[in-house]
Amino acid sequence: MRSLQRKIEQEGRVLSEQVLKVDTFLNHQIDPVLMKEIGAEFARLFQNEGITKILTIESSGIAPAVMTGLELNVPVVFARKRKSLTLSADLYEAKVYSFTKQETNPIAVAKSFLTDQDRILILDDFLANGQAVQGLVEIAEQAGSSIAGVGIVIEKSFQDGAAILKEKGLRVESLARVKALQDGKVTFVEETAATST
Ligand code: 5GP
Repeated sequence: MRSLQRKIEQEGRVLSEQVLKVDTFLNHQIDPVLMKEIGAEFARLFQNEGITKILTIESSGIAPAVMTGLELNVPVVFARKRKSLTLSADLYEAKVYSFTKQETNPIAVAKSFLTDQDRILILDDFLANGQAVQGLVEIAEQAGSSIAGVGIVIEKSFQDGAAILKEKGLRVESLARVKALQDGKVTFVEETAATST
C-alpha cells in the first residue's frame, strides 16, 4: 500500500536493525485517515472469505481492526493482555512472548465472543517472529473457529514470522513489507502486490 509505505518512509524511526518506531500514526498517536485506508484495503483483500469476526490483540491492533470491521460490517474482538477483573472465568488463553518487551505474557478472550460458527480474520500492527499471531491462532483454534487469514499492517520480512505462518498454511496479507532496517533507513520488499495500491 503506497500511502502506508510513504508514511513509514516519512515518519518511521529506525531504532535498531530490528525495531521500527511508528508512534506518530500507529502505535501511540493514530492517523484516522490512514487507518481508514488500511481498513478498506484489508476488507478488499478478504471480502470473499465470509468473515464473521476480526480478532486482534490490544492495543495497537485495535485501530486497524476497527476500521476493517467497519468496512466488513463485522464485530472486532481484541485479546486482553492481562486478566481483567471484568473478564469472566470462561476464557480462551494462550501465552505470547513479546518481541518488544522480551517477556512472556498470557492473553485471553472471553469464550462468549468466539464460537465454532465464526470465520475469523486475524489482524495485527506488526509481524516480527509471529508470536502474537500464533497466540491468536491458538485462541481461535480453542474456540473451534475457522481462520480465513492474517492481515498485517507492517511485516518485517527479515524476521521469521511470515514464513512460520505460511508454513502452517495460513494466508498472510501484509500492507507494507520491510526488507531491512539499516543505517537508519527503511527499505521495502518491492514485489508485494499490496504496495501497488
Ligand atoms: P511478533 O509476535 O510477531 O514477534 O511481534 C509482533 C508484535 O510485537 C506486535 O504486536 C507489535 O506490537 C510488536 N512489534 C514487533 N516488532 C515491532 C517493531 O519493529 N515496532 C513496533 N512498534 N512494534 C513491534
